[in-house]
Amino acid sequence: MGWDAGPGPDSDDPHALAGRWTAALTGGVRDHVVPMSAEETCALLARLAGEFEAIAGVPEPAARVAELGAELARSHFVGDEVLGRSIAVLGAHFGAAALIPPDRLADMLAAFANGYVRAFRAWLLAEQESVRAAEIVARRSVEQQLRASEARFRAVFTQAGIGTGLSDLSGRIIEVNTAFATMLGYLPEEMCELSGTDLVHPSDDHGMWDLYLALLRGDHDNVQLEKAYLHRDGHTVWTNLNVSLIRDEHGDPQYTLVLVEDISEWRALREHLNYRAHHDQLTGLPNRSRFIDALTAAFADPARSFGLCYIDLDHFKIVNDTFGHAIGDALLVQAAARLSACATGPGQLVARMGGDEFVILVPQSVGASEVAETVLDAFTQPFDIHGHHLTVTASIGVMAARTEHTSADELLQAADTTMYWAKAAGRGRYVIFDADRGRREHTRTELSAAMPAALTRDELFLDYQPIVDLADAQMVAVEALVRWRHPVLGVLTPAQFVDLAEDNGHIGALGALVLERACRDSRDWHDRYPGSTPTVSVNVSAAEVSDPTWLDRVQHVLSDTGIPPESLQLELTERAFMQTSGRPLQALRTLAALGVHIAIDDFGTGYSNLVYLSQLPLDVIKLAGPFVHRIRTPDAASPSDVLVLESIIELSHALGFTVTAECVETSYQASRLHDLGCDTAQGWLFHRPMPVDEVTDLLEDRSPAPHRAARSAAAPPGR
Ligand code: C2E
Ligand code: MG
Ligand code: MG
Repeated sequence: MGWDAGPGPDSDDPHALAGRWTAALTGGVRDHVVPMSAEETCALLARLAGEFEAIAGVPEPAARVAELGAELARSHFVGDEVLGRSIAVLGAHFGAAALIPPDRLADMLAAFANGYVRAFRAWLLAEQESVRAAEIVARRSVEQQLRASEARFRAVFTQAGIGTGLSDLSGRIIEVNTAFATMLGYLPEEMCELSGTDLVHPSDDHGMWDLYLALLRGDHDNVQLEKAYLHRDGHTVWTNLNVSLIRDEHGDPQYTLVLVEDISEWRALREHLNYRAHHDQLTGLPNRSRFIDALTAAFADPARSFGLCYIDLDHFKIVNDTFGHAIGDALLVQAAARLSACATGPGQLVARMGGDEFVILVPQSVGASEVAETVLDAFTQPFDIHGHHLTVTASIGVMAARTEHTSADELLQAADTTMYWAKAAGRGRYVIFDADRGRREHTRTELSAAMPAALTRDELFLDYQPIVDLADAQMVAVEALVRWRHPVLGVLTPAQFVDLAEDNGHIGALGALVLERACRDSRDWHDRYPGSTPTVSVNVSAAEVSDPTWLDRVQHVLSDTGIPPESLQLELTERAFMQTSGRPLQALRTLAALGVHIAIDDFGTGYSNLVYLSQLPLDVIKLAGPFVHRIRTPDAASPSDVLVLESIIELSHALGFTVTAECVETSYQASRLHDLGCDTAQGWLFHRPMPVDEVTDLLEDRSPAPHRAARSAAAPPGR
């Protein structure tokens, strides 16, 4: 290098200058960029110093010295003080050693400074330019991204199948997409001219707009609901509406974004299914489920009064069977139309419960009977069905009020029952529910259900009521009277359940039980008190006698217990005899022929056809209580009553029958009946119905003393 090779006082110490210059530039110089290490810096500055000195000798050094300054700047020594310190180090070094004449040194340092400054400015401009270029690149990239995201948003907004719209907080539509506009029959720009009120639909409820206002206030960020809009052509478009609040950077509400989806078809389908679920397909009337909903709603309000008509077409089955189901269906449709015309009052509801049963809910309880009358009137005209003129009546159960029923189901059940009362009363009429009758029938239903178990659980037992000879009041027979020890209701009398057993088919089992037990007790008395055993009289209903197996059963019991047939008496009421003909009557004749006594019970309460009696296999006439009651006291007995009794007794005797008077309660009755020739009597005057053991006690009391002692000694323990 020139520095190393050049002469001068410092020429032997070129590194000393480079070291000082390096120290001046790196020690505490701020703001300059030095992208090289200390060694590299020292080497650079040593070279520059060497060249500076070498140039001093050439004739025009300025340009070359300027180039050294420029090199320093281009080497990124660009801090505030770089130039000043460099001038100071170079000036001091070359000036002190007088290596370069002072005036020339000053020119060289000035040229060095110029070169440095020029290069520094160029560097600075280049730096600024590169920063600007970088900024431009960055900004372009951000803009590009923004444009891409905006384009995506536009694409979503404009092309989305779902209706989309943007509104400001005043409700003004700023923008909508084609899907939204088309949904309502507009162009997007036309929709932007609509006001908020143009989007109001009559089916909007207040709650909906309150919700929208709450959203605008910022109370919610999103609201979702079903809303109807009016299409430009007037029809309704149902939508699923989703409104979201868009806030500004401070969180204040700014816009609302609306997403709407046309659900008209789906809603129509839903309504159709709903309609089908609640309407009868044949008649179009509300169906059972819809009616139960309405009734339950009416029931839920205890203050609400309402009535109900339960309607059943009479003999509808015959129409179906005779004319076929198509005519039957057409009749139901016409009947439904007539019923609808009968129930046009506010809140009245006609429904088909199924088959030929209809109901009308009448909101005002006072009106239910009137509605029933209107219905009966409407059914007086024949139905014209495909040329057939059919007259069909209706039976109606009317619930005039909600009564004591505690649920819609119970009320409906009661209405149904009442409708059956109307049927039983002759059809083509209405009957109003009667709570007492309802209760009685309810008990009957429950008793009927409990009867099979009662028969097997031994809940039925017998009392016996003695029948005495009117001449000496001695017991000659006992009547078996059945009772039911009900676990909840206590002891029930035959009037409470015998008819029921006849209706529900349990009378056969009941009668068999009574007959067997009575014959077993009779067997016991025969064994203990031979010779003074009372006849045992068993009540038998017509239904039992009609059973083809009944005769066998009676004969089987007789042979099983081995009691003489003469000690058994069977009582049938007059009415039962009237229902008994053919084979059942033959069964009675067979038993009579065996020696079983046949009695006509409650004689005088029915047809009292004495001529008919002569044809029956009868032994005993039991005069009914009401007959006997007429001669209860001397004052009560009219001559004609006495005459009738006397005639019956005489005629009965003439026909060979024995006469027993029932319900003898006074001694006057007993003596009068005895005077009139009546043979035996039964009644509270002599004995009330009693348990079997008490009959045994009576027999015991009247048997001879030695026999009594012998029997009691022989009696089995525990009796
Ligand atoms: P019924 O055969 O005429 O029986 C006489 C009824 O009169 C009995 O009523 C008896 O308690 C009652 N009675 C007896 N003496 C008097 C009296 O002095 N004054 C009054 N007011 N009543 C008196 P109960 O036991 O309630 O029987 C009623 C009816 O039930 C019987 O009338 C009979 O028709 C029927 N019944 C009873 N047990 C049976 C049975 O095992 N089978 C069938 N099919 N019917 C039975
Ligand atoms: Mg009787
Ligand atoms: Mg009787």
